[in-house]
Amino acid sequence: MTDDTDPETFAYDQARWTDDDERYEPLLSEKNTEAVEVETSLPDELTRDELELPSLSEPELARHYTRLSEMNYGVDSGPFPLGSCTMKYNPKFTEDVAVHPEGLVHPDRSADTVQGTLRLQYELQNYLGRIGGMDAVTLQPPAGAAGELTGILVAREYHRADDDDRSEVIVPESAHGTNFASAAMAGYDVVTLPGGEDGRVDLEALEAALSEETAALMLTNPNTLGLFERDIVEIAEMVHDVGGLLYYDGANLNALLGRARPGDMGFDIMHYNVHKTFATPHGGGGPGAGPVGVTAELAEFLPDPHVRRVSRSDTDRSSGQSPREGSDGTYERYTPDNSIGKLHGYAGNWLVLVKTFAYIARLGDEGLADASAKAVLNANYLAEQLEYEVPFGPFHHEFVASAGEQDAADAAKRMLDYGVHPPTTKWPEIVEEALMTEPTEAETKRSLDQLAAAFNAVRGDNGETLETAPERAAAGRIDQVAAARDPELSWQALDEK
Ligand SMILES: *Cc1c(COP(=O)(O)O)cnc(C)c1O
Repeated sequence: MTDDTDPETFAYDQARWTDDDERYEPLLSEKNTEAVEVETSLPDELTRDELELPSLSEPELARHYTRLSEMNYGVDSGPFPLGSCTMKYNPKFTEDVAVHPEGLVHPDRSADTVQGTLRLQYELQNYLGRIGGMDAVTLQPPAGAAGELTGILVAREYHRADDDDRSEVIVPESAHGTNFASAAMAGYDVVTLPGGEDGRVDLEALEAALSEETAALMLTNPNTLGLFERDIVEIAEMVHDVGGLLYYDGANLNALLGRARPGDMGFDIMHYNVHKTFATPHGGGGPGAGPVGVTAELAEFLPDPHVRRVSRSDTDRSSGQSPREGSDGTYERYTPDNSIGKLHGYAGNWLVLVKTFAYIARLGDEGLADASAKAVLNANYLAEQLEYEVPFGPFHHEFVASAGEQDAADAAKRMLDYGVHPPTTKWPEIVEEALMTEPTEAETKRSLDQLAAAFNAVRGDNGETLETAPERAAAGRIDQVAAARDPELSWQALDEK
């Protein structure tokens, strides 16, 4: 047996394909192109006579994509403790379910021809409602951020229906950037809530921020430091006392699955990041899904369409009941009475939702509770093994270590050389040079020990080793500012350069 905790035994060399000392796999168009003549019935002024297109054999093509995949790092390559993102392993059986031919139906088909599809949507609405303690759930938003916007628009319509034009949404300073953006996009002034010394909401600061102008307070619980907001019931009362609504950012729901429910804590609206909590793949921009749950009094504002079950006797019009085996119910799409409209086409990112359904159905209540228990245990175990300083704690699903005198970004890059995807860096700002780390329930004790050894090896590195890392990855250090400000998004743009 190898020594699992000797970083050298699991140091990692990523595939790289060198061309004149550059570490990269050429683009298809750089390998070989051929001019092809274009025959089309379109008018001449709309077409080109000739097109330069990549011209490669099937094996060349297969090798190209395999090489690219070997230059990548994903949750199937090794641990991926990217804090707040919950990069848990995505079990492969959900992919099988999602490619079932009966799931691949056109969303415009009439309800009577897609009863199975609608039933799955309806049951997923109910699963999520039960998990979050919410009365009604829309599956439409395509991401957590889109769920936030949906939820805040629901809150806005709820107040407006009472002729109540509130102007402010309160967001803690440690919140995810999307919270500020969603509130602003919905037209609100964002009031930033300073954090308390113990890393939690400071009730005095909250009291000072609340007013008749407060439309909502957005919170995640546990928060981005991995700490449970113990005063949540009091916080909910304070928000409700001024007529505001309490919004739950569901990114950290993995800590609570099967154990505690936002609805029971007093939250009125929440989103679910199903690509985080329910193991549907994400990263690189999607696709994900961000269903939104609300309490009964907000259900009439949900996006269009919503799915409900109608019994033949037409007495059961609620969407909060599970169909009984052999019942005479049918499923239909409808527009909620005061719907905010559409946030996405049709039922949202349908195949992501199929995977979500499969994952929840396979795990069941017990499996979900087991997942959250292990996620919390793993985070606390890992935090204990680190030589980096880890303020606060004990934790729920994640913790934030401090890189101390090291630059957190340097430390993160260096971790790639040890076969570890870096943690989230420099956020939240409450911790100096933050390394926000979330191992998830998917890691075994052996891989947690390796993770700890990798962190601790990087802790001991310094100088040039750190500043020039990664050494063993497919790509060296990129210019992050140029990548964000001056990106070349097509091979034509690159060619021109
Ligand atoms: C990921 C995340 C979001 C945004 O979710 P997306 O699905 O990526 O749009 C919001 N809040 C927190 C705390 C997050 O970690």
